[in-house]
Amino acid sequence: MWQYLFITKFKMRNVNLDGGRTKVVDLLKNGQPDSVVTVKGWVRTKRGNKNVVFLAINDGSSINNIQVVLDPAKYDEELLKSISTGACVRVVGKLVASQGSGQSVEIQGKEVELYGGASPESYPLQKKGHTLEFLREIAHLRPRTNTFGAVLRIRHAMAFAIHKYFNDHGFYYLHTPLITASDCEGAGEMFNVTTLNLEELPRNEEGKVDYTQDFFGKHCNLTVSGQLEGELGAMALGQIYTFGPTFRAENSNTPRHLAEFWMIEPEVAFFEIEDNMNLAEDFLKYLIQYALDNCMDDLQFLAKMYDGELIDRLKFVLENDFVRLDYTEGIEILKNSGAKFEYPVSWGLDLQSEHERYLVEKHFKKPVILTNYPKEIKAFYMKQNDDGKTVRAMDVLFPKIGEIIGGSQREENYEKLLNRINELGIPDKDMWWYLDTRRFGSAPHSGFGLGFERLLLFVTGMANIRDVIPFPRTPNNAEF
Ligand code: ATP
Ligand code: MN
Repeated sequence: MWQYLFITKFKMRNVNLDGGRTKVVDLLKNGQPDSVVTVKGWVRTKRGNKNVVFLAINDGSSINNIQVVLDPAKYDEELLKSISTGACVRVVGKLVASQGSGQSVEIQGKEVELYGGASPESYPLQKKGHTLEFLREIAHLRPRTNTFGAVLRIRHAMAFAIHKYFNDHGFYYLHTPLITASDCEGAGEMFNVTTLNLEELPRNEEGKVDYTQDFFGKHCNLTVSGQLEGELGAMALGQIYTFGPTFRAENSNTPRHLAEFWMIEPEVAFFEIEDNMNLAEDFLKYLIQYALDNCMDDLQFLAKMYDGELIDRLKFVLENDFVRLDYTEGIEILKNSGAKFEYPVSWGLDLQSEHERYLVEKHFKKPVILTNYPKEIKAFYMKQNDDGKTVRAMDVLFPKIGEIIGGSQREENYEKLLNRINELGIPDKDMWWYLDTRRFGSAPHSGFGLGFERLLLFVTGMANIRDVIPFPRTPNNAEF
């Protein structure tokens, strides 16, 4: 008897995924002069006269437009009129070396089809130079601007690089739940999740809301962090990361806070705080290098428009070791600085952005990793130092941003962790599953959270966090 084992392998077919067009980015990079090409995209500008019409077309693949040259005599007058700023068109034509300066090739149009017009009377993006504040009011259309095209392409590249970095280093992507029942972290800053009728809430004998009648049979929230579940993953898979949305109902209208933001949270078994710092620094530098290698056109555009020092700042972070400093030393530096702060400095203070930025921008002029914070201002799960006062926390502080990463070595000792939970009055009946990691096969481990939009603020040089996420969620803002 013999047997053949046929293993059929999926062969990539040559499917065209470009929607029957050549992308502008490819035309500008490797377009063959004299070839006939099809482009599809949105008209950014139209100019010309009786004898010639120039269209600048953008299809989202690049910050750069391709210029289309049309002979008006060859087209219906109505059609040409409808091809105004914002309209979407298909153009077939010959690629030729460009006469004008600024680009290598342009298209001599032979055939034009209008997919959808955009009336000049009502289309809001007629001219360049709208303020970012105005664009936030039309967040449904702002992806069509140069600025948001650039930001969104960089956002994509950074998300991809994050997965690549972790995959290349053998970390597993763990999906942690968005709906959670633990409100031990950041109580008061959470969004409730309920299907109870808010008009007629069921009450128990004490007059409190009876959550046993709710969908999950208990009080639930949207998660503020995937860390606690991430730790469960790390205690099985060794090294994991999460990358998902997190929600905080903090009513702080700052340029650095969103109510819905994305967080990257690696969690690693057998990592001490030093390993955790090494990971954070290497990871951030990798991402910045990736942006410089892959997003230069967009970075240069943003540097030109908003932040002339952007690219130097990115390179500067790559070229310098991050300063590693004890919280206590940081407080001394701030106290002796002679600088005036809104929040006065003393040991025990939860550092504000003004303090963090002073250390980074004025004192060291380098990114700083601050460690060993007072336990009172940090979360219950952080590893307690022998001094009884501090915990093995680490915050990474960046120029222009302040805190970009918050992390720690975790308390792996069951008794110490339980004591801390009791000290803080956290109901340990909610925490039994978390405590089980310390009861069964506990191990030293560490992790951190990087705010994705804080990273993007740094990489794009944008000043407001509302401008690095497609649809920002902030107090009083959930329209689109
Ligand atoms: P901050 O003190 O700046 O409000 P935090 O200490 O509350 O931040 P962590 O709980 O340590 O933040 O969260 C980890 C990371 O998530 C932060 O370092 C930051 O990059 C990001 N982050 C926290 N809160 C927000 C928010 N509201 N919007 C956007 N990013 C945030
Ligand atoms: Mn923090």
